[in-house]
This record gives sequence, C-alpha cells and structure tokens, in this order.
Amino acid sequence: MKVEVITLFPGFFEGVFGQSILRRAQEAGALEPCIHDLREFTTDRHGQADDYRYGGGPGMLLRPEPLFGAFERILSKAESRPLVIYPTPQGEPFTQAAADELARQRHLVFLCGHYKGVDQRVVERWVDREYSIGDYVLTGGETAVAVMVDAAVRLIPGVLGDADSARSDSFRSGGLDGPHYTRPDVTRGLRVPGVLVSGHHRNIERWRRATARYLTRRRRPDLIDNKSG
Ligand code: SAM
Repeated sequence: MKVEVITLFPGFFEGVFGQSILRRAQEAGALEPCIHDLREFTTDRHGQADDYRYGGGPGMLLRPEPLFGAFERILSKAESRPLVIYPTPQGEPFTQAAADELARQRHLVFLCGHYKGVDQRVVERWVDREYSIGDYVLTGGETAVAVMVDAAVRLIPGVLGDADSARSDSFRSGGLDGPHYTRPDVTRGLRVPGVLVSGHHRNIERWRRATARYLTRRRRPDLIDNKSG
C-alpha cells in the first residue's frame, strides 16, 4: 500500500514510520510511505502556508494554493485515483470498519490540517473521506494520521506475525477484548486466575468470552446495542 501524507511537519513521521509494525510492513514490501512537505509547495518567497480567515476571527488557516499544488503533483504521478482522507473533528468517527476499508486500498493520501484547519475548497475538490479519531481537538492532523495508518496497516495480510491474535482484538467481533496474563503465575502476591493455568481449554475459552462480554457491557454498552440493532 502506498501512503502519501501532506503535512507542514514532515519530521513528525520519522518516528511513526521508523518503528514497530509500520517499519516491519515497509521491510516486508507491504507499505510504501511518502511524506510531502507542504512548505515545498508554497509559491511566495516567505514560504507562507497559512493565512487569515475571510470574515475575520482568531486562528489561521492552511492556504489553498500550496495544498492544490501538492495534490496536483501527487495525482499527476498516480496510476489511478487514490483514496484521499482528511482527518478532522468534523468527520465521521474512525472505526475498526473504517480501518478495514483503508487496509483494502492500494493508495491512500492523507491531508494534515493545522491551525483552524484547511480552506474548505480543498476539501470539496479532493477529499473522499473525512474522519475524526475522537471527540477532542488535536493541534494538527499528524497524530490522527498516525492512528489511522497504524490501524489500517496492521490489517494488511502478512503484516502481523500472528494474524489470529488480531482477529480476537477489541472491535473485530463487535465487543471488547478481555484481560490477559503472562508468566509468572504469581507476582507480588498477585495470582493469575486459576482457570487459565488449569489446562482445560473449553473452560479457558468460556472464561475469556465471559470476561470480554462483562467488560463490554460495563464499559461500552453501545457496542452491544449496535450489534443487536
Ligand atoms: N477548527 C477545527 C474544529 O474545531 O473542528 C479544529 C482544527 S485543529 C486545531 C487542526 C487540525 O487538527 C484539523 O484540521 C485536523 O486535521 C486535526 N484534528 C484535530 N482534532 C482532530 C480529531 N479529533 N480527529 C481528526 N483530526 C483532528
């Protein structure tokens, strides 16, 4: 999957793509990131990427011209139209189902907003999906892009060492995952639930389903309601 990101802060992505699964995905040939520095598409001699908002009020906006320039460059080199995503608090909630959809794409382009956001004409001209990663406001789209790319890339077949493990993660079958334990069976006087060291696989499975259901009901009843609705 080719992932292109338009950002005022290209340095942010060095760590994001340089570690863990996103790095392994590149080594395996499953992910090809390409970070575009928005500043390089500015046309004035000060390299100004932002400007005041029409109508007044505090807060700057990313100017349309550099963004149009970035999109025109990216699209002119693309074999087919990529899916373009703008992270924004005004978008629809980014869910596991949305991550699944992104994981099936061959080419994604992310537009990172900053300040008050971006000129709306850019959104109308280029953006296919607007996603929010939660009901709070971040400083810029970079952190949201890191979240979305991570959630999608780990679903690309072959990227995770153990795909079965991901299948039992939270949201994959609707509800939350339950608690897990590893060795030793006693630490600081704290004991692992007996059933997990019983060797009785059916009981272990039953316990896992029950604890996961209990957690889901207590913390995210909306997930159960959504399922039955
Ligand atoms: N004026 C915008 C609003 O209130 O909806 C907030 C702008 S925010 C300070 C700057 C940028 O951060 C946004 O353009 C967007 O790209 C990103 N951003 C902030 N919060 C986000 C969220 N919850 N989900 C996704 N992106 C977010």
